Amino acid sequence: MINRTVKSLGLALTLLAASVSLYAKNNVVVIATGGTIAGAGASSTNSATYTAAKVPVDALINAVPQIKDLANVSGVQALQIASESITDKELLSLARQVNDLVKKPSVNGIVITHGSDTLEETAFFLNLVIHTDKPIVLVGSMRPSTALSADGPLNLYSAVALASSDEAKNKGVLVLMNDSIFAARDVTKGINIHTNAFVSQWGALGTVVEKKPYWFRNTLKRHTTSSEFNIEHIKGDQLPVVQIVYGSDSMIPDAYVAYAKAGTKAIVNAGTGNGSVASYIVPTLKQLHDEQGIQIIRSSRVAQGFVLRNAEQPDDKYGWVAAHDLNPQKARLLAALALTKTTDANEIQRMFWQY
Ligand code: ASP
Repeated sequence: MINRTVKSLGLALTLLAASVSLYAKNNVVVIATGGTIAGAGASSTNSATYTAAKVPVDALINAVPQIKDLANVSGVQALQIASESITDKELLSLARQVNDLVKKPSVNGIVITHGSDTLEETAFFLNLVIHTDKPIVLVGSMRPSTALSADGPLNLYSAVALASSDEAKNKGVLVLMNDSIFAARDVTKGINIHTNAFVSQWGALGTVVEKKPYWFRNTLKRHTTSSEFNIEHIKGDQLPVVQIVYGSDSMIPDAYVAYAKAGTKAIVNAGTGNGSVASYIVPTLKQLHDEQGIQIIRSSRVAQGFVLRNAEQPDDKYGWVAAHDLNPQKARLLAALALTKTTDANEIQRMFWQY
């Protein structure tokens, strides 16, 4: 009799614990960095002329009290700048803060509010260097917080919903904009004026509707837990210098030469079409590669498609690298991280296939 009572008491306690954990809210840290989502304009009709990075993190969180129903939310003000002014220094310091936070057992997910201009870069960088399966979600807005129909509040609400969802685990760093969930590696800012500004040529991973994420695909590329890059292995506050040169007709070689003089270790050529390089530019790139050891990464100024190795230029013969489907700004970051590990162009090419 006593035995039976003890057993049913035990069962009741287990059920209670299970239902508490089922309904317990996850802990989400909102890391604010500035951008338009924290922007303020002179009046509510100023949707495009305003100052970015004005509103502090607590005000951002308090402006959307509904997020407290989704998760236990705390705020950290990591930066307060417009994202076009982010350099390696801010990127590395943000990555280190995120890394420290995701290691804490009490943190279940991270939301990073960010300017939309270089949001894709920060997302991709974190996707490569943070080893965690916990959701990390970057979010921004296209209209400042003071504008009529500001898009920041709902974006933030959906981002917190996503970061507190167990289904968002181990999917790589995510970007939430305008209801869509994107993979950090292939999302890009495709329109600079409308709220549906973010696109991926391979499509969104899913969408958030009324706080529920719906998933449609996964990325097959290496990220976070399966990445060979690790923020803990990167010292100092600068990455190897990598710069981009934009391709067009009637180019002059001076930009390439100037970057070489300034100490760049790799040049991402945002070439025309399939990463093409003008015949009269090829000798300059060959010389920089062969005589100065500068890596030449062939990317494309075309927003969709991908650069094929040995098409348009003989990459095997020249020892150049094809950026595959990474756009020039993402190729720049992967090349910089690659150069923290190797100067072998074949190894760098392998990384461009895998990430
Ligand atoms: N220039 C702003 C930024 O990137 C634009 C934005 O956030 O939408 O910080």
